[in-house]
Amino acid sequence: MPDQSQLHALYGGTFDPIHYGHLKPVEALATLAGLHNVTLLPNNVPPHRPQPEATPSQRIEMVRLAIAGNPLFSLDLREMQRDTPSFTIETLAELRQERGASQPLAFIIGQDSLLTLHKWHRWQDLLSLCHLLVCQRPGYSREMTTPEHQQWLDHHLAKRPEELHQQPAGKVFLADTPLVSISATEIRDRLHQGRPDADLLPPPVSEFIVREGLYRNPNPHAILRR
Ligand code: ATP
Repeated sequence: MPDQSQLHALYGGTFDPIHYGHLKPVEALATLAGLHNVTLLPNNVPPHRPQPEATPSQRIEMVRLAIAGNPLFSLDLREMQRDTPSFTIETLAELRQERGASQPLAFIIGQDSLLTLHKWHRWQDLLSLCHLLVCQRPGYSREMTTPEHQQWLDHHLAKRPEELHQQPAGKVFLADTPLVSISATEIRDRLHQGRPDADLLPPPVSEFIVREGLYRNPNPHAILRR
C-alpha cells in the first residue's frame, strides 16, 4: 500500500516509444521536488487522433523495459485497459477518490504540454485535483501564449518545492530540469530512414524495437499523407 502522506506523481504519455526525453528530466525533477515515486500512465489514444505505430502491448512492454530495476518508477495500466479513451481529468478524479482528499498528488508534463493545457478537457479543474509539475523542453517558451494564461500560471506558481508537500493540490511547479532534445517523432523518423536511434532511448527498449521490427520502413503515416 503506497504511503498516503507522501507526494505521489503521475506521468501520462503515448510513449511510442518511451525515451530519455521522458526519463532524464523526470529523474532530475524527482530530486528537485522530493518525489519518491512516479507512476507512468500510458494513454489510450482516441480513434480520431493519429494512432501510435506500436500496439498497446508493445508500448506497455517498452515502458516496462525502460523502468525495470529503477525504484523511482512504477506503471499504471488503467487508461490502457479501458475500451474508451479517457481524459486526464477523469483519471485524476479516480485517483483522488482512491487516495483520499489529503494526499498530495501531482501530474507531470513537459513545457510543450503546459503551453497547450488550455485545450485539455476541463483544464481549469485540473488544479483542484493535483499539482502540475512541469519539465523544461528545448524549443518551447517559458512564457504562456496569452496574458490570461500567464495570469493563471502566476497565480498558481509554487515558489518553493515544499509547497507541493504541504497541500494536496493546486500548485504549478516549473522545474529547472535539464533540456533534453528528444521526441518520439524524431526517433520514429530516424528509424524509418534506417538510421540508428543514436542512444536516444534505453538499450533494452532499442533492442525490443529491433526484435519486434517496429518503426521500420515504410512509414504508414507518410503513406497516408501522400
Ligand atoms: P511525439 O513526438 O510522438 O508527440 P513525445 O516525445 O512528445 O511524443 P509523449 O509521449 O507524447 O512524447 O509525451 C508525454 C509527455 O512527455 C508530455 O507531457 C511531453 O511534454 C513530455 N515530453 C516528451 N518529450 C520530452 C522532452 N524531451 N523533454 C521534456 N518533456 C518531454
